[in-house]
Amino acid sequence: YRHGEASEVVVNTPDGPVVFGEHHPVVVVAGPCSVENEDMIIETAQRVKASGAKFLRGGAYKPRTSPYAFQGHGESALELLAKAREVSGLGVITEVMDAADLDKIAEVADMIQVGARNMQNFSLLKKVGAQSKPVLLKRGMAATIEDWLMAAEYVLAAGNPNVVLCERGIRTFDRQYTRNTLDLSVVPVLRKLTHLPIMIDPSHGTGWSEFVPSMAMAAIAAGSDSLMIEVHPNPKKAMSDGPQSLTPDAFDRLMQELGVIGKAV
Ligand code: PEP
Ligand code: MN
Repeated sequence: YRHGEASEVVVNTPDGPVVFGEHHPVVVVAGPCSVENEDMIIETAQRVKASGAKFLRGGAYKPRTSPYAFQGHGESALELLAKAREVSGLGVITEVMDAADLDKIAEVADMIQVGARNMQNFSLLKKVGAQSKPVLLKRGMAATIEDWLMAAEYVLAAGNPNVVLCERGIRTFDRQYTRNTLDLSVVPVLRKLTHLPIMIDPSHGTGWSEFVPSMAMAAIAAGSDSLMIEVHPNPKKAMSDGPQSLTPDAFDRLMQELGVIGKAV
């Protein structure tokens, strides 16, 4: 069980430090699943910033089920994230899949994401633990809470205390109407078990944009410290995860609704 106060994870961004933690405003991370081109990432950055997001997310290296699916634009996407970071002032969060890419990702990213599929890639966890950028650790889709906390422990044990835990839905028996089952019960459970800050990702958690706003609000009501929301300027044309992506307008409405229930931005 947790001993003592909740931790604060401070992430430096061009606009200044952003704090994740129980006693701080809800931090919202928004952006497309994948960085597709310069126009879309800059436009998304500017729109989500105007709505109150503090971080831009976007994949350069994508973990796709099929090897024939779009795998991300890699290094050129990192350059576009650097540009979007510069023009928007937002912090950047992007995923590392291969430790060989870690240094060049850490040059651009303010926070490094370890995805659900790599949650128990222990050699990768040791390497993100041995560098200094804060880490966003997504829950594996079949990981128990114990598995997840022990994965976080790998990062902490390697010397990096700055870990945020992100619930993104787990596999249950029904995939007909939802992509995953968003486990919102982890919010109070993690609060009891760990001092680390909590993020909820209702985009991957549900798989459908129409379900994202209610689950985002529920996450805040449950006490989540932060949210990750996929946003794309034209979800129908997205190269990955279009069905679960909000338009910038829908994201803006959600941010206003989150303000209504209290703790947001
Ligand atoms: C993502 O954030 O785009 C992603 C691939 O997430 P997850 O690892 O949770 O599937
Ligand atoms: Mn995605």
